[in-house]
Amino acid sequence: MKNKFDIIIKNAKIVDANTHLLSDDSVIIVDKGVIQKIGNKELLETSDATRIWDAESKLILPGFINTHCHLFQTFMRGLGKDLTFIKWMNNSVRLMMPNLDEEAIYLAAMVGCMESIKSGNTTLVDFMYAHVKPHYADYVLKAFDDCGIRGVLARGMTDVDRLPGSPVKPASYATAADSLAEVDRSRAMYKDHPRINFALAPSVIWGMTTDGLIEIAAYAGKNDMVVTMHILETVDDDQFSLEKYGKTTMRALEDVGILDTDFLGVHAIRVSEDDLSLFKKYRTRISYNPLANMILGSGVAPIVEFTKHEIKVSLGTDGAASNDSQNLIEVMKAGALLQKVHNHDSAALSAWEIFSMATDQGAECINMQDQIGAVSEGKKADLIAIDFKKSNTTPCYDPIASLVYSGNSENISMVMVEGEMIFDQGSFTRFNESEILRKAQQKAKEIYQSSMG
Ligand SMILES: [Zn+2]
Repeated sequence: MKNKFDIIIKNAKIVDANTHLLSDDSVIIVDKGVIQKIGNKELLETSDATRIWDAESKLILPGFINTHCHLFQTFMRGLGKDLTFIKWMNNSVRLMMPNLDEEAIYLAAMVGCMESIKSGNTTLVDFMYAHVKPHYADYVLKAFDDCGIRGVLARGMTDVDRLPGSPVKPASYATAADSLAEVDRSRAMYKDHPRINFALAPSVIWGMTTDGLIEIAAYAGKNDMVVTMHILETVDDDQFSLEKYGKTTMRALEDVGILDTDFLGVHAIRVSEDDLSLFKKYRTRISYNPLANMILGSGVAPIVEFTKHEIKVSLGTDGAASNDSQNLIEVMKAGALLQKVHNHDSAALSAWEIFSMATDQGAECINMQDQIGAVSEGKKADLIAIDFKKSNTTPCYDPIASLVYSGNSENISMVMVEGEMIFDQGSFTRFNESEILRKAQQKAKEIYQSSMG
């Protein structure tokens, strides 16, 4: 009598950042969303499954983790390119954001998730801006639920009544207490959902009051939640903090207790020795977004320095308004190359190191290392299959070097989240791709036209 499971993957080459190559013809048993057992062919003699998936020696990896994006910006990809920062803002995000509605948020999130899944992403942290209407986040959550990806909704917050240099109240202003009440409501809606988690996302130091940050730190501590924030992307953060608080951004965040939380700083480009010492002291985690940093000309985050000090680094695409793509394979390549250029050293950051940032370090950065980020027994079955039998990856010697430097979405042949195959052999299993794309194109066009007046 054989034991019956949900899915058996056979003939798998398993690789993760800790184990490197596990074996050439492994068997993975998946049941109830979890990797129950990994073994050799003999496991097949005692096990049966509703579905047996032959990996045909494809590489099985942990799904990639994108720790920073803004899904609503999918509708703004390609806008405002090659302009200075403020002109880019005015021609993309600020132009269209006021005209987005529930359907637009949903379709933008669906398209962003689809592109992510196709490039091997199984977990996405959506830093949802504080929006004109607080319930807009519900439509990102609905997209997470519908498309099958693992989603972390990081609730954006802005509680200052004037952004620096602006004469008017921000359209998305809300007190921290009101925003946290919204977080309570969303968490209750998705309580016990196996794929949806929450984080807190105070926008940026100049978008928050000290009282608001103190409230957020307290809420995060009480509810064991990650806090993520844009930090030190440009010199503006420290200029503002020095003027307002008489201290740097990191020292100001230390004072209000934000650094005591599970803190994920996004960008971290203009980093001083003192900032670095605080990152170490508080085990601050970093989201490295090289493509967005290049497109906006923001600079290069000192990633090699971070890894030397054992600071955990993950990868982010950032929003499509600044990066234009949600593809984490591109981010891996650009992220490794940028460090080589910046350090004048071709060995500055290896393919294996950046792969670790997309997987196990990504999981640590969002405090989910017990659940995702590696192919091992007891972890969630968030797996992807890579097919190297394509012209861009033939021949293949080191699979991770091939993935990072030659790979693209074409190589992703299967994506599984929570034990469910949501993408298999070029098709999504839960919905009709062309139908969603058609609706999204039409809706985006309407919003663009009304934004242009
Ligand atoms: Zn961002």
